[in-house]
Amino acid sequence: MVEELNPFKIAQAQLDAAAKKMRLKKSMHEYLREPQRFLQVRIPVRMDNGQTQTFTGFRCQYNDARGPTKGGIRFHPEETEDTVKALAAWMTWKTAVVDIPLGGGKGGVICNPKEMSQGELERLSRGWVRAVHQIVGPEKDVPAPDVYTTPQIMAWMTDELSVIRGYNTPGFITGKPLPLGGSAGRGDATARGGMYCLREAADKLGVELEGATVAIQGFGNAGQHAHRLVTELFGCKVVAISDSRGAIHSKDGIDFEAALAEKQASGTVQGLKGTKNLTNEALLKLDVDILIPAGIENAITSKNADKVQAKIVLELANGPTTPGADAILYKNKIHVIPDFLANAGGVTVSYFEWVQNTYGYYWKESEVHEKLDEKMTAAYHAVWDRHKRSRCDMRMAAYMVSVARVAEVVELRGLVA
Ligand code: GLU
Repeated sequence: MVEELNPFKIAQAQLDAAAKKMRLKKSMHEYLREPQRFLQVRIPVRMDNGQTQTFTGFRCQYNDARGPTKGGIRFHPEETEDTVKALAAWMTWKTAVVDIPLGGGKGGVICNPKEMSQGELERLSRGWVRAVHQIVGPEKDVPAPDVYTTPQIMAWMTDELSVIRGYNTPGFITGKPLPLGGSAGRGDATARGGMYCLREAADKLGVELEGATVAIQGFGNAGQHAHRLVTELFGCKVVAISDSRGAIHSKDGIDFEAALAEKQASGTVQGLKGTKNLTNEALLKLDVDILIPAGIENAITSKNADKVQAKIVLELANGPTTPGADAILYKNKIHVIPDFLANAGGVTVSYFEWVQNTYGYYWKESEVHEKLDEKMTAAYHAVWDRHKRSRCDMRMAAYMVSVARVAEVVELRGLVA
């Protein structure tokens, strides 16, 4: 049988399994299986050569029962309607697992930002806001960065909505640069939140983090900060990292600053002095203590899951593991900290940013870290307890916690009886 790799079909299958295990009412299950709203737009952009190119963009508002929908915008050549829907569903479970008063949404544009100039990217970013402005805003739907979108892109988008509204609207979007109303601690929040989960998991499982070996797939925002933070906070040894072009490995450990400098100079981490090149696939199978998928979907599938040797898999990417792979990892007693728990630090600090924008008063970085730690630790423990009580894997447990929280509010509102 060919394994299902469509991310939305996977998100639905995960929900179906949780609904069954928790005996969710049929009407509620049916309601939560599809997004509340999905908008597809066309964005004409004047390119540097004077020609107009029209891009397709999306915004999905999956569920707003617990608050305004929240979730990033991805600029990616392989973006699809179903990727956006899956990511929006996962945002719904993510905001619920960390118990912040927001719903779940996601956006995207099919484009290749690596081949676009800054001017083209700015016009595309502003065009996306013009196309969706009627359905977004601080009180309705609050976007943020995702794969290949940056604080600068958030800044252009903030400006565009502020022009449309006629007043400064910093709470429209999060992940902004600090001078424009960004939050201290947002830059590394996704990875840092994951570190708090890892600390709790290591404690529960009796894994010594000092000197533990780590492999990280993906060298974007989450992967880079994870590399720095596992070393800084716990004294782990990162022996392998990768980007979309390939991986590198060194038994003696890879220095973060050197890897970052290599990436900036040559566009890839491959070729870094003192390391051996590997494929992304080989990185997943290394004999390490901790594996951190921090790239995109479907990295660990039923084809390679049996070869994963790590004790802990910390999913900083969204959707890196297929349901088939999940079953294999569980059978092999590998502790998977599932994506919408492991990477919820990003949206948690986004929530703090939105709160700070709303009351126009800004917190110190140490305050953000402390509040983030509190949220992540509570979320990890809620999921761990459910996993013990219901004798299921951590992903199923996270679904059970989140779906129950969303369903409770849907029911209180009288939406689904
Ligand atoms: N794109 C990030 C995620 O997948 C952040 C979302 C946000 O901050 O709203 O969680």
